[in-house]
Amino acid sequence: MSKPRVAILGLGIMGGGMATRLLSLGFPLTVYNRSREKAAKFADVGAFVAASPSEAAARADFVISMVADDAASRGIWLGEEGALAGAAANSLLVESSTLSVGWVRALAAAAAEKKCEFLDAPVTGTKPHASTGELFFMVGGSAAGFDRAKEVLSVLGREVLHLGANGSGALLKLINNFVCGVQAASFAEAMSLVRASSLDREKSISVLGNSALASPLIKRMLASMVAGDFTPNFPLKLMTKDIGYAINEGARCGVPLETAAPALELFKHAVEQGLGDQDFSAVVKSMRKD
Ligand code: NAP
Repeated sequence: MSKPRVAILGLGIMGGGMATRLLSLGFPLTVYNRSREKAAKFADVGAFVAASPSEAAARADFVISMVADDAASRGIWLGEEGALAGAAANSLLVESSTLSVGWVRALAAAAAEKKCEFLDAPVTGTKPHASTGELFFMVGGSAAGFDRAKEVLSVLGREVLHLGANGSGALLKLINNFVCGVQAASFAEAMSLVRASSLDREKSISVLGNSALASPLIKRMLASMVAGDFTPNFPLKLMTKDIGYAINEGARCGVPLETAAPALELFKHAVEQGLGDQDFSAVVKSMRKD
């Protein structure tokens, strides 16, 4: 059976990895990125580079968006040159960016007006997982859409899980990331306390890195710290965005996320210090002095 034509909108760390994976498996691929230079290298390895999201969607049966935030997603899907303008009826539209639940539901309604199937399918996993098909997709949308999507999502992910109606994937992703953000912020404070004390840094890192607090996330932070390498796998500014969206969603549901609020302040402070484009683990470099 021939493979479906796929379009990837957004060729950053994650979208770029997903595009690489699909090309390596022989999927007919169209790509679009706001800044053209990131897209150009995909032309060399067999992708068609579209001039607009609309053109990309018109060339595909299956459209995946992987962009920074709600504003980027709005720009990618809506408007004259947006993907919804080009998508044929019955196309399968997948939003894999980490976004607010309210925006994802609004987008689902706009897609339904165009008679397209829409899924929110954000992911866990980071840069290496995107290019090796090891993401974890949390999917919201109809069961029929989910069944159709598996043909493509299952080659991008080690797990593809249907959670319920549109917005379910977005919500669980925000819950996941706010806890990650709180952990990262607490760990940044812990390291600040180690620095301010007479404790030996190496011994402290060794103990903390082998204790119950050493989650995969904390281990990643420790590895970045020890190597002094904060090249982004997951940019700090995007973690900041996710904690903010989670706090808003908690408030909407009547559940104030009280541990998330100070974590957000710490991340915002790191962005103000110019660390937003570094890996989220660079939050350890930014402890408030006030
Ligand atoms: P990234 O490397 O910063 O890439 C962001 C992408 O969004 C780029 O293609 C960028 O285009 C595009 N973009 C930003 N603002 C835009 C706008 N206003 N209009 C159109 N395009 C815009 O980010 P990423 O790490 O790939 O993350 C993408 C999404 O996946 C985010 O929602 C993030 O939270 C989520 N996510 C990331 C990870 C991770 O580990 N990195 C893991 C899970 C989920 P330009 O190239 O033109 O700037």
